[in-house]
Amino acid sequence: MSDAPAARPAAPSAQTAPPLATTAKPVVGVLALQGDFEAHARVLARLGARLREVRTARELDALDGLVIPGGESTSMTIGIERERLAEPLRELVLRGLPVFGSCAGLIVLDREHLGVMDVLAKRNAFGRQVDSFESDVDLSGMPGGPVHAVFIRAPWVEEAGPGVEVLGRVEGGPADGKIVAVRQGCVLATSFHPELTGDHRVHALFVDLVRTERAGRTGAGTEEVR
Ligand code: GLN
Repeated sequence: MSDAPAARPAAPSAQTAPPLATTAKPVVGVLALQGDFEAHARVLARLGARLREVRTARELDALDGLVIPGGESTSMTIGIERERLAEPLRELVLRGLPVFGSCAGLIVLDREHLGVMDVLAKRNAFGRQVDSFESDVDLSGMPGGPVHAVFIRAPWVEEAGPGVEVLGRVEGGPADGKIVAVRQGCVLATSFHPELTGDHRVHALFVDLVRTERAGRTGAGTEEVR
């Protein structure tokens, strides 16, 4: 009598390979309602992630991590409401899903939007005269020196709660000292666009976090098996 073997994972034993979920590339979603999601997808793929464009709540299933890209936070918020993504996104963050938001993504994560980071983002904070600029930013814990940061109509973090780790600030100029990189648990956010430079250290940090969290959930090692 068959017991529907195809639907059942093999029983673990010393002889069988570990379950696929523990060895395959991590699945990283990129919220693809609006904005520069393709640039993130390219970088994440180069770092060994399996990519999934996320536009619906179903596409949030079984992700190991999620990126919320830059773009226009008002349009993105409208899309999140339209697709009823806010609640499932909040639940995933509560369950420890690693999330990285850049620029508009940072705004979407803040107290006044999804409310999954205890920060208040100030939109277009650097002012009209300086729509876009580039600067080196020292990120705490980041090996290899400052990160070259591209700011495009960027927000800064106006307030950060006690549970938020400030990772980086602008140095020099009129915005000296403004917070532009933060982390709270598994949620990471930058005012700038690390997907637009050839320096992939911020994404690498995020993918490491994704792998570590997944290993914690599955009890597997963090080594990648292709
Ligand atoms: N200014 C945009 C906003 O407020 C963010 C810009 C960006 O993501 N590059 O949503």
